This record gives sequence, C-alpha cells and structure tokens, in this order.
Amino acid sequence: MEKHHKTGDIVYIFSFCQYNTLLDTDALIRGFRPYAKTLPAPVSFSLHHPDQPGESGDSIQLPPIPQGLSVIPQGDLCIYKQDQYNPLKMNPISPEKPLACWKGSDRFEEEVVSTLTVILKTAGCTWNRCRMCSYRNVRFSTAGEEQSNDLILGQLRWVKANQRLDTVDMVKIYTSGSFFDPREVPPEAFEETARLFSGKVVIAETRPEHVDRDRVAGFISHLDSARWETPLYVAIGLETTNDFIREKCIDKGFSMAQFQSAAGEASRGGAGIKAYLLMKPPFLTESEAISDMKSSIQAIAGTVDMISMNPCTVQRNTDVERFWKQGAYRPPYLWSVLEVLRDSPVYVGCDPVGGGHARGPHNCGTCDYDIVKGIRDYSLSGDHALLDSLFHTSCHCKNEWETVLSLEKPYCMPLTR
Ligand code: SF4
Ligand SMILES: [Zn+2]
Repeated sequence: MEKHHKTGDIVYIFSFCQYNTLLDTDALIRGFRPYAKTLPAPVSFSLHHPDQPGESGDSIQLPPIPQGLSVIPQGDLCIYKQDQYNPLKMNPISPEKPLACWKGSDRFEEEVVSTLTVILKTAGCTWNRCRMCSYRNVRFSTAGEEQSNDLILGQLRWVKANQRLDTVDMVKIYTSGSFFDPREVPPEAFEETARLFSGKVVIAETRPEHVDRDRVAGFISHLDSARWETPLYVAIGLETTNDFIREKCIDKGFSMAQFQSAAGEASRGGAGIKAYLLMKPPFLTESEAISDMKSSIQAIAGTVDMISMNPCTVQRNTDVERFWKQGAYRPPYLWSVLEVLRDSPVYVGCDPVGGGHARGPHNCGTCDYDIVKGIRDYSLSGDHALLDSLFHTSCHCKNEWETVLSLEKPYCMPLTR
C-alpha cells in the first residue's frame, strides 16, 4: 500500500464496523496512528462514517475498495486516498462479511478465555423501537427468508475463511436484532451457526419472545461436543428489573415476567442465561440510574448465570442522540459505573464502550483513561480490590459527581393535560 501515498496526502479511513463508528472515532484514529507511522510519507487522515454521506439509516452502503488499495488486516477499516474517495459513488455493502468480527478475551468460569465476537447482518430487529439502539437501523431491509438465509450463510463462510477458530474458546453472536428470531435467522443458517462453532461456548443475544426450548435444544444438539457443561448461553437485554423504567425510559417492549419465562425456556432447553443491564437510560438522574442498577443486580444475582452492565452510549440516529443534542441527556459518569460495580454482590462484567468520550460514559477527561482501563482490567480479572482503588483515585471531578448526585432533580413533566 505504501507506494500509493506521498507527502501531504489526505487518507480517508472508512470504517466497516457500525459498532465502532457509532462511538469511538477518536479510538479508531488512535488505532490508525501506528499504521500511519509505517507509511513512507507523512499523511493526514480523516474518518468517515457509513451514515454520513447521506444514506438513510435503513441501508448503509459503502464505497468499493479502489483497485490497488487493501483493507487493513483487522478487517474494520478501509483506506482511501483523497482523489479515490467519492462518497457519491456507492456500492452495496459486501454481503459476505459480518458487520463486525473481532477476537478478544472474556472472563468465564473464573478464568480468562479467548473470545470471538461476531455481529451478523440480518433482516433486522422486529421490535425496532428501543430509544438508545442504532443496530436496528442496520439490516437487509428487502431480503426475504431465502435471501436472508443465503446472506447469513455467506457471512459464516467468511468467518470460517478468515478466523482461526481453533484458537477460540467462546463465541459471542449478535445480530442487528435477535439471533433466535426465525424471521431474522432462518433454520438453515441457525443450524449452520451451531455446526460452525461446535465445541465452543456460544453466547447468543435475543429478545425473550423468541426463546423456545425446542429451538434452544436443537441449537445445542449441533453445537455440543461435551467439552463444556453448558455450551450455550442465551443473552437477553433485560436492561433493568424495573418494568416502569424499561417501558417508559427505554421502550423495550417486554416485561420482567416475560424475561423470567424466557429464562425458564432457555433452561429447559439446556442453556444458561446471561442478562445485559443498561446503566442510565434517558429520563433518569445520575443518582436514580445508580439505584436502578444496584437494585437490578440485587434482584437477578443468583438467578441468572452471567450479568453484564452496559453504560449507555449515545448512538447515531436514536432518541438518546436527539436528547443529548438538546442537552437533555448525559451518559453516566465513570464514577457511577465504579460505584455500581463495587457495590455488586456478584461479578458483573462491564466494557465501557466509548468510555472517556462525550458520547460514552465519561468523567472530566483527565481521569477517564485510567478508570476505563481499570474497569476493563477488572472485567477480566474479577479483582474487586482494583475497583476500590480506582474509586479512591483523587480527581477534582469527583466533587462535581457528588454534587450532581445530591442536587440533580428528575424531569418535571406535567402529570395531566
Ligand atoms: S430489541 Fe435490541 S436490537 Fe431491537 S431495538 Fe431494542 S436494543 Fe435494538
Ligand atoms: Zn476526573
């Protein structure tokens, strides 16, 4: 690639990964810097989002890779010289590649295991309403079941060809909706996913209404190699155990009772259950958000197999983004995240996506990096003492956080019209 660049070129970085582009553009550019150093001539660079050139949220389209340029090995980025980038000439996204696919590590059964995360592009979420979610905008909007099946099989082939699955213990599968919804993941693609990841622990995310014991058992029959006691965990974005907050602040569209019923179905089908919690949806004060997470964790600790807490982020084209732009929403302080994790009676995983940035959980900008890193370290080690020491780090913004906790008032809306 080097021969394509000369001093003064502007290099456009085009991210294929909706997940990253939504939030962490600074991190992407930081990640690009080491690569830029390998170029023979200094260049400046700029990052472009799939949704910036004027596409509607429903069909994100990407430009073709110009001849002679290649994709950076991590698979998320494509690089263009200034004169080769023309956002007006777009080709449809390559159907053979998942929305995102990366390797990492996770804590599982008190150990650190190697993980592959795959975000499959599907026909999309049938609920499509949660206030903080922009995944629902990423879908093959016109695909029928047969075409959907082929498109997912193509993405699985890509994973098989491009990832060393023999080095992976756990696979986390997300779609732009629910993996267990047969309208999103038709039976053939569903079974093929289980076969491809046979011998791994799979965590697959879905809404509760799609969890059916026979479908769960069917998946396990193709997945299980007797290596793991529980090879499948059904992951559900419960968000909070408070039905009022889930309905009014998130518009999630299911109740705690439905979650419990789905957990029962998953268990009868032979799967474990993982709950995702959402810290600080809109309309809650900082202090209310902390209380909501503390009581949610207390309520489900011991009844689910895994809990992961997601501090809310401001994703593009969402209600949350609209409120944020009006100054009516702020993502949680990292101090609040620490406070909840420290208080938890059980291990709760947390990856503060977008941590330290305005769109993600953040403090003052000075202490953010160390705290985000510390929370990620804790998520792997489970070392509670680390949380305590991070919480007792001194920074001037801790006073600000304490003041917010004591003074911030809930929205004062009229109760009648
Ligand atoms: S159910 Fe999940 S994918 Fe669907 S809109 Fe809500 S958060 Fe997004
Ligand atoms: Zn600070």
